[in-house]
Amino acid sequence: MQKNGDAARRIALVTGGNSGIGLAIAQRLARDGMCVTVNGREAQGAGQAMCDAAAGAPGMLRYRQADLRDPAQIDGLIQSLVQEHGAIEVLVNNAGLQHVSAIEAFPVAVWDEMLAVNLSASFHTIRLALPAMRRRGWGRIINIASISGLRGRAGKCAYNATKHGLIGLTKAVALETAATPITCNAICPGWVHTALVQRQVEALAEKEALDMEAATARLLGLRQPSGRFVTKDQVASLAAYLCSEDAQEVRGAAWTIDGATTAA
Ligand code: NAD
Repeated sequence: MQKNGDAARRIALVTGGNSGIGLAIAQRLARDGMCVTVNGREAQGAGQAMCDAAAGAPGMLRYRQADLRDPAQIDGLIQSLVQEHGAIEVLVNNAGLQHVSAIEAFPVAVWDEMLAVNLSASFHTIRLALPAMRRRGWGRIINIASISGLRGRAGKCAYNATKHGLIGLTKAVALETAATPITCNAICPGWVHTALVQRQVEALAEKEALDMEAATARLLGLRQPSGRFVTKDQVASLAAYLCSEDAQEVRGAAWTIDGATTAA
């Protein structure tokens, strides 16, 4: 078993890592030499095939099925990786859901699902992974929050509540690990063009009878002063930096990468 980790072969887990930002982070960490497991809801065979196709090399990304709405499945995911590798050294809590609706019309089941995936899942992965991380004597916990964890927006009660909560969780864990080589930080992206945002572009196009290009420009114009999407690879580079030794004393940060949105 490794002691204090091996920078060239860190053990990493990226939740919801089979698409969007999570997949870009998983690919980047694998390129940096880490042994990366990606989690998703898809069946094991289909998920592994998707990872092999995305990585361009069989086995470069390992896949583990677990539905993060279920604490028992999270327990199984974390325990199996800890048993196999001794510790998860880099834990990226990325899985997340979005739903836009006024609170009076917000479906209760969607609220419950968003709390489970966007917030409680990170509580469970961290509490379960931290003991072995402490024994290993090195660790990085990165929670993918959002600028919606720093400011409010009408129609996003569950997203705002869970992402604010995730930043609060990040700060508490950063303080509980502050005297150790384990760090815990949040990344707060603005708009990144993924499936999660494409659904919002499509909803806006339908609501305002716009074509996709106009709806995209309108969405960005609503609140991203740069007028451009942040890219998945830019978020992945920030995650890679937070994994580096240079970032050892970056602790409890809610690091924005948002085209100046929160500067206003
Ligand atoms: P995405 O839809 O591509 O990724 C979300 C991932 O979460 C998917 O892989 C999905 O399968 C997974 N997931 C959802 N429910 C799950 C469950 N029950 N069990 C396991 N996995 C589950 O969207 P994305 O934009 O890449 O989002 C990734 C993260 O980034 C999310 O936490 C999102 O809130 C956050 N984020 C995205 C943006 C953006 O503009 N795209 C901005 C800020 C923050």
